[in-house]
Amino acid sequence: MAVLVTGGAGYIGSHMVWELLDAGEKVVVIDNLSKGFDWAVAPEATLVEGDIADTALIGGLIREHGIEAIIHFAGSIVVPESVADPLAYYQNNTCKTRSLIEAAVEGKVRHFIFSSTAAVYGGAGIEPVQENARLEPESPYGRSKLMSEWMLRDAAAAHDLRYTALRYFNVAGADPGGRTGQSTPGATHLIKVACETALGKRPFMQVYGSDYPTADGTCVRDYIHVSDLARAHRLALQRLRAGGDSLIANCGYGHGYSVLEVIEAVRRVFGGDFDVRSGPRRAGDAASVVANSNLARSELGWAPQRDDLDLIVADALGWERRLQTMNSARG
Ligand code: UDP
Repeated sequence: MAVLVTGGAGYIGSHMVWELLDAGEKVVVIDNLSKGFDWAVAPEATLVEGDIADTALIGGLIREHGIEAIIHFAGSIVVPESVADPLAYYQNNTCKTRSLIEAAVEGKVRHFIFSSTAAVYGGAGIEPVQENARLEPESPYGRSKLMSEWMLRDAAAAHDLRYTALRYFNVAGADPGGRTGQSTPGATHLIKVACETALGKRPFMQVYGSDYPTADGTCVRDYIHVSDLARAHRLALQRLRAGGDSLIANCGYGHGYSVLEVIEAVRRVFGGDFDVRSGPRRAGDAASVVANSNLARSELGWAPQRDDLDLIVADALGWERRLQTMNSARG
């Protein structure tokens, strides 16, 4: 019996692999290594380089390793890129997920956990946003994920398959033990960008918009530690194995921080200043996006352990330093 993790060489997937191994699970990773790194995959896991839409390959893995659950992270995640090239996003996120679900159904894999996103809600909802809020994604990225949720719902109604879709808010931080972290070059996420700037990897950073209707004028987001997120997936797996019904649940802490508060935390944890400039608003940014996470807490028994902005930043900064050392060692 083993768990198949798609995208297990990527940021969140590589944390999931450690979370599963730490719990004594057998793990098989499939990743096309387009964004992920083979060195990010824990050596105790089996890494297969390949395409999640290759149903023959997936079918073979299911039989060979006795896969009884799939945790599906592989996909594209850059919102502006999805606006520029929507068909690539529908192909990569929606069509390939359809193939993967088909392989799961054919291979009689009964548990499926899907990495969804708060982007399925769009920006106009009531805060903190609940799972039953209106679904009005504002980007092809959000729509590509929402369509995958719908396919799962329909497939689960028709076949012997139950699923959990977790809608992530702003995932940040790194494995507290320094085993993996966010390694994507050119990442755009705020905490990563601020840590890179603090360490001198960027000459300066910008605050995208200071005139939002929030307390300090900058956008508010619900930042969640990647290890707490990985744990939510493992709890979701336990719940499905115990016979739990299909579920869609938010993964955020239920409170938010502004861009300026995040930058202040990075300065505090880093213990020094760095160049932060005021910039224009970034297209498509909602003023505030905060989760109602009651469902994840009650249904999954999820009790976050790293719900502290300084802890998130400290782990992100620690990983950024490790990357620096690794890159200089590689020359
Ligand atoms: N942000 C910023 N400067 C940056 C990167 C992000 O001001 O260099 C802001 C961004 O406009 C948003 C918030 O930080 O209001 C979180 O952005 P991120 O890209 O991390 O996540 P998103 O909420 O877009 O998924």
